[in-house]
Formats: sequence, C-alpha cells, structure tokens
Amino acid sequence: MRSISILGATGSIGASTLDLIRRERDKWRVVALTANCQAAELAALAREFSAQVAVVADESYLADLRTALAGSGIEVAGGAAALVEAAARGADVTLAAIVGCAGLASTMAAIEQGKTVALANKEALVSAGEVMIAAVARHGATLLPVDSEHNAIFQCLAGNDLAQVRTITLTASGGPFRDWSAAQLASATPAQAVKHPNWDMGAKISVDSATMFNKGLELIEAHYLFPVGLDKLRIIVHPQSVVHSMVEYRDGSTLAQLGPSDMRVPIASCLAWPERMATPCAPLDLAQIGELTFRAPDEALFPATALCRAAAEAGGAAPAVLNAANEVAVAAFLSGQVAFTRIAVMVAEVMSRYNPAAPTGLGDVIAVDSAARAKARELLELA
Ligand code: NDP
Repeated sequence: MRSISILGATGSIGASTLDLIRRERDKWRVVALTANCQAAELAALAREFSAQVAVVADESYLADLRTALAGSGIEVAGGAAALVEAAARGADVTLAAIVGCAGLASTMAAIEQGKTVALANKEALVSAGEVMIAAVARHGATLLPVDSEHNAIFQCLAGNDLAQVRTITLTASGGPFRDWSAAQLASATPAQAVKHPNWDMGAKISVDSATMFNKGLELIEAHYLFPVGLDKLRIIVHPQSVVHSMVEYRDGSTLAQLGPSDMRVPIASCLAWPERMATPCAPLDLAQIGELTFRAPDEALFPATALCRAAAEAGGAAPAVLNAANEVAVAAFLSGQVAFTRIAVMVAEVMSRYNPAAPTGLGDVIAVDSAARAKARELLELA
C-alpha cells in the first residue's frame, strides 16, 4: 500500500486522479486532500477516501469544512500555512494539482520531503524554475510530469541520454480558436474560450490553451524538466491531440507517445511509475481517427509562445513575472474586464515594465510573483 496526497483535489486533475484511486482503493492510503473554497465537495471526498486531513486554502471556508466533517475523525485545517503543513506530511506520492502560482509553496513543501511529486501545477515550475529543480536535487525527490506533453517526453526519453537528443517537439491542439481570424479573436468571449475542442479542463488552463499561453508555459516547463537547450525545443500544432509530444534523436529516430485525450493516462503513468496500471480510458482507435495533421503555430495571431520563449531566454525572474501577469490577465478576461486579445498585450507590458533580480529562493519567487501581480492590476486600473 502507498500513501498519496492530492493538492487541488476538487479540480479537474484532482477528479481524474481520484477516479483512478477509486478503482484501486486497496492499494492507496489517502493522507491530505486540499481545495481552495469548495468545502462541501472537499468534505465529501475526504469522507469517501478516509483522508487523514482536509484543508481549505481560503480560511474563510474552514467553518464550513469543519461542520461538513463533524464526527468523521478527519482532521480539518485552513489557510496557507495549513496547506503547506499538509503537503509536508510526506506521502509517498503528492499530486500537485492546484492551479496557478498559489500552489508553489505547498509543492515545494512536498518536494522537501524527498518523495515523489507528480506535477500538474505548471505555473509553480514556470515561476520557480531553477529554485524548484535545485530543491528536487537537494532533497532527492522524484519529480514526475503529469502534463500530457511532458509526460509523453518523459516516456520517450526513458533510458536515453539527453546529449543524444536533437529536438523535442511539444504538440499543441491550437485550442478552440486555432482557425479564427484576428477580428474574431478580438471579440472572443469567456464562454467560447473555455470550450476546448479536445480536453475537459479547468477554466484557467482552458483560456491558456485558447491564447496559446498554455503551450508557452509548457515550453518553459520543458526547458526546466529536460535541459537540452531552448534552441532544441519546438512547438507544432496538431489539432487531433493524439500525438502528445515527440523526441528526435541525433540518429534521425523520432519517438512519439500517442494516447486518448484523457488526463487519466498521464496521471496513471505517474501513479504507477516505473510500473504501469490499467485505466478505464477507451483504447486509441487510429483507423477511426483516420488522419493526424500537423502545422506550424501562427505567432502573429497568437503571440504568447514567442513571449514565453523570450522569458525563458531571459531567465531569472522573467518567467515568474510572465506567469503572474498572465494569471491576472486571464482572471480579468474571465470576469469580463478585458478583451481576449488584451491578455498577451498585458503580459508583454508587465514584462517590459518590471525586470527584478533573479530569485534565489522560494521567498524571492513569491515576492516577484506578488509584485508582478500588483503591476498587472495597475494596468487594469489604467485601462
Ligand atoms: P481546476 O481549476 O479544475 O482546479 C484547481 C484546484 O486548485 C481546485 O482544487 C481548487 O480548489 C484549487 N485551488 C484554486 N485556487 C487555489 C488557491 N488559491 N489555493 C489553493 N488551492 C487552490 O484546475 P485544473 O485541475 O484544470 O488544473 C490544475 C493544474 O493542472 C493547473 O496548473 C493546470 O495548468 C494543470 N493541468 C491541467 C490539465 C487539465 O486537463 N485540467 C492538464 C495539464 C495540466 P477549489 O475547487 O476549492 O476552487
């Protein structure tokens, strides 16, 4: 039996993870389940999985959580420090599935336990970059990528030396607006942006997919996870989302990982690694899919990937600034405050105005993140 904590248990990745755990209940002991504010949903999950502790990050929901779990024997807690404490309980596997840089401190606390951290929370790695990778090495932790592209690359790299890699290609569905004109993009609504053609995901990553910031953040993520050099990292649009990414070796062989557009496949790969486990996902039926197509991304219409590449090239604090500005801009778009096309413009503006020193520790990253958010909010007020 192995123990697991799920940070962000009430989200889309949390639900997919718990679906897999539910099917193998006898193999897992659940330590911590966390949410931000969905206290009733969290309480139901904590009861179902007999969690040791349930935590709401937003302390104002702690009373609701306490009431919902009264008499269950499950510990309850609330607030940022409680989230970090729960992550530090040292489960064999921690699934880091909080959305945004809000998941950074708890992910770092899990890494510091030196166990396995399955990382979905890409914003944490984008923001903390070298600080997080250094912590993984220092504490002897195992960092497994949940993101389908990085999980694909991880699988294609298995047993091979990074020095043998010629290129790594991240595939992108292109999102719901991949065939839209500039005029259409200018009036895209939140409802249209969160309707992804291939994947069922949380609101923030769905908007990121529509802007292509998701792929840009993934480029930065790949840069830290697979340090082959930025010049070897490519992006290609692949509307069917069947090929999840590819690694080309210097002898001309390209290895790709294929699978259904279902996050339970990469999550299962992390939960069972280095073994395999069964999933309920429909087998890939390539005859039925018929054709797989590929095309170059349009960086004039979707400038996000170029902005992210520039941030990765600049290094230091730039990816954290970019990520924070994007989080504020996406939230503003989702609440109807700014137009879809303003997201990338805002990110570029914050990056040009704010260029702090490179962070050397978690505290520095969090300080850069909050200062960049403040700059982005200033822009919103000026608009
Ligand atoms: P969701 O929005 O569905 O879920 C987010 C989870 O994080 C919820 O449990 C939510 O709690 C919690 N949360 C939100 N804000 C905070 C906060 N401030 N502090 C603590 N917890 C918080 O997101 P997804 O599951 O879609 O995505 C999670 C992460 O995984 C993201 O980084 C995303 O980029 C990445 N990812 C997602 C994929 C997907 O298919 N969904 C694919 C690949 C990567 P509550 O419910 O209470 O709000």
